[in-house]
Amino acid sequence: MPKIEKSEQEWREELTPEQFHVLRQKGTERPFTGEYDHVFEPGTYVCAGCGAELFASDAKYDSGCGWPAFSAPAGEDAVDEETDASHGMVRTEVLCASCGGHLGHVFPDGPHPTGLRYCINSAALKLEEE
Ligand code: FE
Repeated sequence: MPKIEKSEQEWREELTPEQFHVLRQKGTERPFTGEYDHVFEPGTYVCAGCGAELFASDAKYDSGCGWPAFSAPAGEDAVDEETDASHGMVRTEVLCASCGGHLGHVFPDGPHPTGLRYCINSAALKLEEE
């Protein structure tokens, strides 16, 4: 269970409309439009909702898919993964382990050594540059 629980109203007040749509309504930003799609500065990507560390810039790579892609989360407990059978597909949803916010999905077509592609919405992230 997420450690941080807030009402829909509280989230609405704290987040931008885009952040709220992605994090709390499982929305997806349009490809190639996100703030971090082509950002490769060193730093830590934290949750835009709660500030928890999610991904290190070292794990970020250019997948060409139109969203920020990472080969692994920042730590074993940083994200939760759940089966998502919406939109006529079976995918694995990625959520912030701290606040339960929707981040994106993980696909088994990533680079060596994990073979994973964490395809994450920019709106769910905030880069804290080193
Ligand atoms: Fe969070």
